Amino acid sequence: MKVASTRTNFDVETIRKDFPILSREVNGKPLVYFDNAATSQTPQQVINAIVDYYTRYNANIHRGVHTLSQEATDAYEQARVKVQKHFNAAQSHEIIFTSGTTHAINLVASGFSSLLKEGEEIIVSALEHHSNIVPWQMLCERTGAKLKVIPMNDDGTLNMKEYEKLLSEKTKLVFVNHVSNALGTINPVEEIIDKAHGVGAAVLLDGAQAAPHIKANVQELDVDFYVVSAHKMCGPTGVGMLYGKEEWLKKLPPYQGGGEMIATVTFEKTTYADLPHKFEAGTPDICGGIAFGAALDYMNSIGFENIASYEHELLEYATEKLQEIEGLRIYGTSAEKTAVISFNICDIHPYDIGTIIDKLGIAVRTGHHCAQPVMDYYKIPGTVRASFSFYNTKEEIDIFVEAVKRAKNMLS
Ligand SMILES: *Cc1c(COP(=O)(O)O)cnc(C)c1O
Repeated sequence: MKVASTRTNFDVETIRKDFPILSREVNGKPLVYFDNAATSQTPQQVINAIVDYYTRYNANIHRGVHTLSQEATDAYEQARVKVQKHFNAAQSHEIIFTSGTTHAINLVASGFSSLLKEGEEIIVSALEHHSNIVPWQMLCERTGAKLKVIPMNDDGTLNMKEYEKLLSEKTKLVFVNHVSNALGTINPVEEIIDKAHGVGAAVLLDGAQAAPHIKANVQELDVDFYVVSAHKMCGPTGVGMLYGKEEWLKKLPPYQGGGEMIATVTFEKTTYADLPHKFEAGTPDICGGIAFGAALDYMNSIGFENIASYEHELLEYATEKLQEIEGLRIYGTSAEKTAVISFNICDIHPYDIGTIIDKLGIAVRTGHHCAQPVMDYYKIPGTVRASFSFYNTKEEIDIFVEAVKRAKNMLS
């Protein structure tokens, strides 16, 4: 499998041709897809990897001596190495394929059941996605550990002074998203990790929202766990990654029992397979893993610096244009944010705006974005969230802003 080289010039029109879906119409209008924070679109290169797998070498992995099984195993393990290289993990067995971010978080939370004692503490942030809150609440119920919450500030950043006050020798694990899905805030993860390690706590970063825009370097961050979903970074749904430092993955017990994760099985005692297979019970999403690798190749061929700078341009352009609309308030105004704009207009319900602009071919997210605590903080039921990707354009933003104005006029 060839690794594509970085393109020297960033040309959005050329890039758009890689995404067949971008040329479809919705309700008789050209699609404007601004729901990238929920899931990204899939380039032909990734679609090809999926078709190629099922056309040429679909087989179960790690168990067959036959050629197809060998080919599938090789491609799957090559994908693991691509993921390892992309996030700069020290070893490929520190990469566990999961079904996504949620699965990866639950795997860690379940493992900590046997490591936490009553009275010990876990810290999460007020900016979290529900998938980052509920597993920790369940863990606390199982163990008697306490959940502490880092409060947020009005601009959508975390209150770092309060964070420091929450840390103590009782803290065993700190869990924060690298980038907030509801507001786009990029959290000061270096500082969060540094301070947590200062009291001997481990850190799990949810990179689901960061990974499409920022190439995290897990060794440089010195983070203990990092999790992502492939479907938010041009890959397919149903696959994601748990990165864990080897020492931690060795300490955690297996999450699920089944085939593939064992070394020997008798009714008296089963011994577990080595990493990464200890955490990969059953037949995984083989094709998905391979396509995840293809998605990383694709994004790297465009280049993360190009992606970040272009998306920032889109963010600034859209922010400026939207602010011209009277009564529009943007939530989350941190200087450090990804290309996400969460907003409301006067007291119009976000759902109504979303419905009207869908009629005009525009896809945005409306609601609480799986982050109800953030909405509670602002005392709102939800927001309209437009999230941009490197394949979006300023022309699309113009169409979107006009549509929002039209919706406002109809609804007020
Ligand atoms: C999307 C998202 C999740 C959940 O990801 P799944 O792919 O649904 O498992 C978790 N955290 C954040 C920050 C997200 O954006």
